Amino acid sequence: MKTVDLSVVIPIYNESAGLDALFARLYPALDTLASNMSLSYELILIDDGSRDQSPAMLREQFNKRPDVTRVVLLAVNAGQHMAIKAGFEITRGATVVTLDADLQNPPEEIAKLITKIREGYDYVGGYRRERQDSAFRKYPSRILNRIRESTTKIRMRDQGCMLRAYSRPIIDAINHSNEVNLYIPALAYIYARRPTDVEVAHEERAAGESKYPLSKLIRLNFDLMTGFSLLPLQMFSMIGMITAIISTAAFIFLAIRRFMYGADAEGVFTLFSFTFMLLGVALFGMGLLGEYIGRIYQQVQSRPRYVVHAILEEKPADTNVSERTHS
Ligand code: UDP
Ligand code: MG
Repeated sequence: MKTVDLSVVIPIYNESAGLDALFARLYPALDTLASNMSLSYELILIDDGSRDQSPAMLREQFNKRPDVTRVVLLAVNAGQHMAIKAGFEITRGATVVTLDADLQNPPEEIAKLITKIREGYDYVGGYRRERQDSAFRKYPSRILNRIRESTTKIRMRDQGCMLRAYSRPIIDAINHSNEVNLYIPALAYIYARRPTDVEVAHEERAAGESKYPLSKLIRLNFDLMTGFSLLPLQMFSMIGMITAIISTAAFIFLAIRRFMYGADAEGVFTLFSFTFMLLGVALFGMGLLGEYIGRIYQQVQSRPRYVVHAILEEKPADTNVSERTHS
């Protein structure tokens, strides 16, 4: 099997509006990188079950540059991180770089990551200099970064930045990880011997719109939290314990008062609001339990996490183009 120095992996979901611009900028950037840093590269494009023209455009692009391009077509939408994993499975590079398809991560910045890898770091994360997203997309992410910092042991500057470089051993470890709910930057972190972060530029989405509505973003962050920490559950046991202690004390106090001064029925509404607050906390706790249990349920089912429809690539031995179709 032909190995290369660098594999660039890009997940693509309904990005037909921006793909031409991406290719027009990406290939020259990679060719320049290859000659400046004297390395060989391959580009792995994964279509994550798009319903627009993206798969057709990827086929077309493959025909234009079959020397460096490999395309994975997934049968159905599996989510960004699963799509990246499907790409990781076929990478041949000693270093693997991930990138978004919307040109928010400038491909010219890959050189910075490679430099760090050459300095001996095995996992290089990017953090976005001035994040160019709507406030609606930016602030929830900022809060989620904060929560992850305080509930997991994962220390990365910017969990949402997908411009990242991974060395081969980390990719192999990820490929051997069988979790159903995957958060690749965090998973890589726990396998990394010497991780670091570098500042990278961030641009506005070139075309189309974000594929992460708030609901999907929240789900993704539950994946991160439940996948890497039990602290949310432990926090609920703590809250339960403290509430039980305080209410026991309050009960004893009120009972004594009852016998000394007789019954009193004031403060019914205070009681109501307090009860509802506790009810809310209890329901949230149950929901949280559900998040963990639901993931255990999916893990136990152990269904394949993505279905590869076809892989377009040049046959390694000769220059024959092949299309492996899986059914
Ligand atoms: N993406 C994907 N599958 C999905 C959702 C997104 O492959 O189900 C890809 C998308 O095409 C893009 C990258 O993941 O290349 C990041 O998505 P997006 O730019 O919408 O996320 P944001 O920048 O808003 O975080
Ligand atoms: Mg984006």
